[in-house]
Amino acid sequence: MIALATRHLKSLHRRDFVAGAALIDGHWIGGEQRDIVVDPATGDEIADVARCSAADMDRAIAAADRSFGAWRELLPAKRGGILRSWASLMRNYSEDLAVLVTVEQGKPLAEARCEVAYGAGFLEWFAAEGERAYGETIPSHKAGSVLHVRMQPIGVAAAITPWNFPVAMITRKAGAALAAGCPIIVKPAPETPLSALAVARLAEEAGVPRGVVQVLVGDPVVLSTPLLRDTRVRALSFTGSTQVGRLLLEGAAETVKKVSLELGGHAPFLVFDDVDLDKAVKGAMAAKFATSGQDCLAANRIYVQRGVYGAFVETFASAIARLKVGHGLESTTDIGPMTKLSVANKCRAHIDDAAAKGARVISAKQNSRLGPNFVPPTLLSDVTDSMLIAREETFGPVAAVLPFDSEEEVLARANASEMGLAAYVYTDSLRRALRLSESIEYGMVGINTASFTGPPIPFGGWKQSGLGREGSRHGIDEFMELKYICFGDLAA
Ligand code: NAD
Repeated sequence: MIALATRHLKSLHRRDFVAGAALIDGHWIGGEQRDIVVDPATGDEIADVARCSAADMDRAIAAADRSFGAWRELLPAKRGGILRSWASLMRNYSEDLAVLVTVEQGKPLAEARCEVAYGAGFLEWFAAEGERAYGETIPSHKAGSVLHVRMQPIGVAAAITPWNFPVAMITRKAGAALAAGCPIIVKPAPETPLSALAVARLAEEAGVPRGVVQVLVGDPVVLSTPLLRDTRVRALSFTGSTQVGRLLLEGAAETVKKVSLELGGHAPFLVFDDVDLDKAVKGAMAAKFATSGQDCLAANRIYVQRGVYGAFVETFASAIARLKVGHGLESTTDIGPMTKLSVANKCRAHIDDAAAKGARVISAKQNSRLGPNFVPPTLLSDVTDSMLIAREETFGPVAAVLPFDSEEEVLARANASEMGLAAYVYTDSLRRALRLSESIEYGMVGINTASFTGPPIPFGGWKQSGLGREGSRHGIDEFMELKYICFGDLAA
């Protein structure tokens, strides 16, 4: 029997999407060294891709550097036109791209389709932002002088991207870089190279010139080392774990690159007793189980006020019990496999630790046909602050619920983390919502909503959740240098 993933790959309209070649200096490079791509749901090998070397990366850096001059000189409206064509091709081939995302990442196909649309949206957003990369004039503090500020492209940019949003994390970075006037070299996660290479094909077809977008797949250390060391690479944008983010920040220090980091989260989700419980449960379901929990915005600590605690746990447990676990290509699936076995194992460790320390575990029975990367959606109630899940990000479909008594207490507990990406507050009190939105130490706060991302918002975290912002009008700044110019001696 032909496996589900293989059958879908065979029926792609664009068979070239699975050719597995890397894009370097306008050429598709096959190469003898290959890496296997695996369907995380079954462990089946579904494709192979070229494994690029450090020498390949050196060639890519040189090509990007050569392409920079002409790309930066192109009028922003022309660059924007190319970005819009790229987005439009992504929308035309969205079904093929979504299948690639599902077979290599595992998420349900419906979510993969949303990701492709979300990803295309960044290209469209930045197509327009490039035309608005305004400078300033400064009222002068010196007689007979005029002061200007110009925003100019920083130079060659590098992007190291994760496997949880394998399309959108590329376009969120590439859209901003290209709109600013910078070429970009992308190193996608080894688990999800197919969608990255497919998106690169569409960039080429949209008219992105040779060397302006390149995608190289391979060993992360082998490929990132030249990117970090080379002085021609002026900006580095990374999404992934805090641990690797720290390493890259250190590595980029040698050549003092501009670094932007989107790192781990550990989102608190606060439910007060004045709230409509059904709405809060609906929000918690979305904030916890989207992308099968493999989302840096995922609610990791759901604090529920004592008065509604029992009712919340009961309603939440029934909603969780309705989630269907399975292959992302099956239309009934809500929760797919974890992309990496290590993530599934971390989920199991968090469940075991909580159970050993007295939490109540409500877990759907695991279907024995499902492989080791699957984690049944699990509710842990009566979680305490000393349990692992209350202290570190889980990145899977395990929901931890913790009771609290007062606003002051829950704010202190929510802020007692080195992570500061997203936080959620559910309350019917406007004054409380305003108070908490002021004092919570997170880069993004959803008040009575779990849905707030999209191209217009400044995505990013405080503390060890990252540096810089992506999307919004701020995202383009990560790829620009500010230049101050003083015109003096103007008296005739
Ligand atoms: P990771 O940080 O190891 O991988 C992310 C990217 O970094 C991939 O492209 C990977 O190949 C690359 N990478 C890994 N080691 C590297 C190194 N030494 N030098 C250069 N590049 C390197 O992420 P992971 O371990 O696969 O995921 C685990 C954790 O990462 C999750 O639990 C979560 O906390 C975090 N994460 C966050 C996001 C996010 O959206 N912020 C996305 C994915 C993962």
